[in-house]
Amino acid sequence: MGKSKTTFNISKEGNFSEWYTEILNKAEVTDMRYGVKGFVVIRPWGARIIDKMYRIYESALRATGHEAAMMPTVIPEGNFKREASHVEGFAPEVFWLDKKQGDDKLALRPTSETAFYEMYNLWIRSYRDLPMKIYQRANVFRNETKATRPLIRSREFHWIESHDAFANKKEAEAQVQDDILMTEEVMHKIFGVPFLPMKRPQWDKFPGAVYTVGSDCIMPDGKVIQQPSTHLIDQHFVKAFDVKFVDEKEKEQTPWLTCYGPCMSRILASVLANHGDDNGLVLPYTLAPVQVVIVPFSGKGVDEAVTKIRAELMNEYIDVKVDDSDKRPGEKFFFWEMKGVPFRLEIGEKELESGEVTVFIRDLKEKVSVKIDDLAESIKNLGAEYDERLIARADEFFGDKVVDCKDKDSIKKALDSGKVARFSFCSAEAEGASCAEFIEKELQARVMGTRGDLNEKADGKCPICGKVAKVKVYAGKSY
Ligand SMILES: [Zn+2]
Repeated sequence: MGKSKTTFNISKEGNFSEWYTEILNKAEVTDMRYGVKGFVVIRPWGARIIDKMYRIYESALRATGHEAAMMPTVIPEGNFKREASHVEGFAPEVFWLDKKQGDDKLALRPTSETAFYEMYNLWIRSYRDLPMKIYQRANVFRNETKATRPLIRSREFHWIESHDAFANKKEAEAQVQDDILMTEEVMHKIFGVPFLPMKRPQWDKFPGAVYTVGSDCIMPDGKVIQQPSTHLIDQHFVKAFDVKFVDEKEKEQTPWLTCYGPCMSRILASVLANHGDDNGLVLPYTLAPVQVVIVPFSGKGVDEAVTKIRAELMNEYIDVKVDDSDKRPGEKFFFWEMKGVPFRLEIGEKELESGEVTVFIRDLKEKVSVKIDDLAESIKNLGAEYDERLIARADEFFGDKVVDCKDKDSIKKALDSGKVARFSFCSAEAEGASCAEFIEKELQARVMGTRGDLNEKADGKCPICGKVAKVKVYAGKSY
């Protein structure tokens, strides 16, 4: 274990698994000592980041015509049973409550389609009610049987689910594309987490969907992690809840529904993993709970000046922390560096006399001088540049991760070197399932699907069964 008392020093590239486990603990993001398998305590440092993520995501949703609601946490068993594939897909993961209400058992929601649709049955009457776009910020529960990992795979997670209803399929499919775009605008362009939008093969779609487009991100160890997914819901599902509307010609119709589920706690895992370095976390300026830490040095007038500077920065909505604890300066520096605070200001008499402060920049580990008079403006500019750098670095890492392959050997080689393999494949419909199974068993990798945002043409034959290839798929080792 390469760590000393004050510094965090674990190679993220060399030993990602240890890095991840240790940094969540050291930086006080999560605490694993609650004692219930798969349930994680998110500490203030993690909760503040998640809160910022929620705010950004929710404002993006509202800007695209969504309204917020809060649905009950429990779902009656009867609701689940109404749609066969949905109940089949989710039943193994459901936490049932012991108490019965009448004859109906109650479940802790694993996802809330069956709660929303119960109400859409009442709320949607006419074409004038459409589109209806409602989301909720919620925690959901799934009894994961696979090994759990904090934030990556837990039994409770913190997400947003939006459920949108449209008069026709065309508008609903446009929403699926808008959801992919929102993932791009928020998760990639703001949080700095690049992804591949993958239309899932038929055997891997959301239970109750016509199709699913997931966002696959890549962790530093080359493993793929699914982030937000969006689904076009099957009309069977909508009909099972008897959701219908009367169109302009007074004809009864079934609306088309979509849902989208960005999971803040899971995206946090990608944010931390993507940007961190061997000295700890590197948080995007936009998401950091503390954007500027001030380390004051004792001296005449320093306390007053620091109080004033802090107030000025806070007035400009910059999150500031003054570390006036009795730790040694070196300890303070290492601590806040490890926590991923973008900027550190050191302020003493010398700085007050010169009217300039030194700003330590976390990701570059460089110092720049800034005039105290326009500190807030400078910090904001530095913050914008900071996030651009983080995104560019994440893109660079992501850029060479997809490798074109032609046969089993090249697929295996790509996967073993932490890459995602792209190759022509027999089919993403049911008949391709056995080839995907082979890949899962022999190569321990998952067929992620076909591009959900573009139409990539296949050529040649499927490297597994030798049949004519119909689709271009991606495969990766996954979490
Ligand atoms: Zn095949």
